[in-house]
Amino acid sequence: MIDDEHPIEFNIAYHPSPYPHGMREDLKEIGEVCDGIYLPVAESDLAYASNKIKYCIDIAHELNLVVIADFWGYGNLFACGAIPSLFTLQHPEHNCIDSHGKAVPKSCPNNPAVRAFLKDAIEEFIVKYAPDGFFWDEPQWGLSGYLGALEPGAWICRCPCCIEGFKARFGHDMPATLTADVETFRTESMLSFLSELCNYVKAVDENLITSTCVMPGDSLAFKEAAGKTENLDILGIDPYWRPDDPLSQKAYIELHTGEAVRIVRENGKLVESWVCAWHLTAGHEADAYRAAKRMAALDIDYLSAWSYRDYLSWTPCDMRNAADPERVWKLLRRAYHEIRAGDLDIHV
Ligand SMILES: [Zn+2]
Repeated sequence: MIDDEHPIEFNIAYHPSPYPHGMREDLKEIGEVCDGIYLPVAESDLAYASNKIKYCIDIAHELNLVVIADFWGYGNLFACGAIPSLFTLQHPEHNCIDSHGKAVPKSCPNNPAVRAFLKDAIEEFIVKYAPDGFFWDEPQWGLSGYLGALEPGAWICRCPCCIEGFKARFGHDMPATLTADVETFRTESMLSFLSELCNYVKAVDENLITSTCVMPGDSLAFKEAAGKTENLDILGIDPYWRPDDPLSQKAYIELHTGEAVRIVRENGKLVESWVCAWHLTAGHEADAYRAAKRMAALDIDYLSAWSYRDYLSWTPCDMRNAADPERVWKLLRRAYHEIRAGDLDIHV
């Protein structure tokens, strides 16, 4: 609930323009309503467009915006638009093996070399770009569509590291089927991976923010455990409601954001709720406004939206926006202004 002592902080995900002038204009506009940005950074951005990232962080800091770096799709382990990981491509020896024995284009989070890659990337990013924190978006065993699909009935991971880790944890060989023990192992593995990343960030600089986002469809066990992650500051949830959902937007947000709030309050962390402001349905531009208002009425600490100007700022620039991106952004700004003023009523 918004109040004077504990105001909600507002953020938006921003895919930077390659042109510093345009970037500055965007960030000025964002700074009128937001406290910070989530900056998606793909491995290829740093390999081939690192100045874009540097300019963005420097300009955002000039404008007093907090910058949280989102290691977008690193190792194909986190949410990402459609940019495959270079590390995964270059190091297939560290990739997951599915239950049918096939290699999968995802670096295994139980492989020490994968964890070392991410820790090196974190340290290098801190030294070169000075962000205010790191975001681990939807850490998952699932495979994004642009990377292909697992065969029916297949699951990951049965690579040598996972097989060895499972035996050490349970005292017997890893079964070839997705048993309850395997599910537990997968949950524990992803959380151990997340903890190691958060611990590493804090070890480099304890003042850096650590944030993650779980998905509504993740198991309750995973969400509950994520809420206890060592050295994690912010647990986020992204109830991206769409008009074809059987629940109303209000019921959907209250269910999932409410659950995240309960989990976080039991663990003394901060909670963030993500507004769906991407790929909105034509004629549904006000959905982002309403989602922001409904989330702000719950006991959240951070209200963030993905992303700036709907699809205009997203990777597939040749993809036509179904909704009007200018109207989505205009209405989202209005929601942020009204919430700051303490107005949680829905006017649109
Ligand atoms: Zn593995």
